[in-house]
Amino acid sequence: MQSAQWDSIVRYITEELSVSPPERPPERPKLTASVSQPLPITPPDSNAHTPQDEQRDVVSVSVIFYPGSTPDSLPSDLALLTSDDVFFYVHSDKLLAASDNGFNMMLPRGSMQGLTGDPPLLFVPEDSMVLNIILHTIYNMSAAQFSPTTQAIIDAVDAMTTYGIPAKTYIAPSTPLYLHLLANAAINPIEVYALAASLDIVELAVGASAHLLSYPLSSLTDELATKMGAIYLKRLVFFHLGRCEALKRLLLPPPPFHPHTTCGSAEQTTLRRAWALASAYLTWETRPDLSTSAIETALYPLGDHLACKECRRLLKERIGDLVVQWAQVKRKTTCRSWLIRVRVGRGKVNFRGCCTSSAELAITRWACSVLPGGNRRHIVVELISTSFPAASDR
Ligand SMILES: [Zn+2]
Repeated sequence: MQSAQWDSIVRYITEELSVSPPERPPERPKLTASVSQPLPITPPDSNAHTPQDEQRDVVSVSVIFYPGSTPDSLPSDLALLTSDDVFFYVHSDKLLAASDNGFNMMLPRGSMQGLTGDPPLLFVPEDSMVLNIILHTIYNMSAAQFSPTTQAIIDAVDAMTTYGIPAKTYIAPSTPLYLHLLANAAINPIEVYALAASLDIVELAVGASAHLLSYPLSSLTDELATKMGAIYLKRLVFFHLGRCEALKRLLLPPPPFHPHTTCGSAEQTTLRRAWALASAYLTWETRPDLSTSAIETALYPLGDHLACKECRRLLKERIGDLVVQWAQVKRKTTCRSWLIRVRVGRGKVNFRGCCTSSAELAITRWACSVLPGGNRRHIVVELISTSFPAASDR
């Protein structure tokens, strides 16, 4: 195909993309544009064109990787055709630089600039969605705008291995593919966790594990367990067990006794028995994702039948401590620990914890206790330090 013909196609694509009626809701961007292939100049024949003929004259070209596209300043020198017949126009030097096996030994070493005429065409077994993710990764761009499924991203990462592209390098923290996978972890956490585990990308596994609190371990398939490997499987199991054990441990101590000034030992013993019963119920129902509000809902009613004000105060304090401690139990397989200093006027308090949600809860509860109903505008919060103990998980 001549360059002038490609110019007309590109112009067509550009015009297509620039039409965006403001009143229509935003749509998922199309991966490809269908363009009419210019036909040889022949005498018009009104009976010659059938719908099938028109279908044959249409080719699909990536809306990002088309001839003359802007991912690179140089013109593309290579065309890739996917299993679902979509053309991607790319730069061989980019592919070669990213690959350590000549893009699955399909590309010769050295530039293709010396070649004349149409760019060489390579057939790849991947479909357009998967190749689109691979190419975006190579060009250091995010494919998130196309909303690929998690499975498509995983297939792309698997294919990167085939093409000699070191996936671990391209899924380093803050790279487009890392951020894309992290976003998808909210939807398919176990799949993203297994992928991260298979590549030993700790940060991504930790990020995905934050969404695995409610994942039932009994539904883990052999395939996923094999993919994540023994170490990460152990981390996941101990993460769940650890939170359940932590809750049991935290529930164990009942509210403390107080001097027999406002009530006797019988009433205080009754409270301790009621605490033991409620704790047993919570322990029986224990899930790693048990919420603090569920704990409060189960325990606060114990105070409804207490006549002694001191017993009620001690019960409230005990529940408050329990909720704060439960919020601080780690919610990821490995957590980023933090130290936060809060200053109010001349006073200051340090908080330590292992995830931002527990920090927020601890600070909010503290602020409520020291400034009941007061103006909290003068609270100054400083993040003193964070650390990432990669090998600290259980
Ligand atoms: Zn009492």
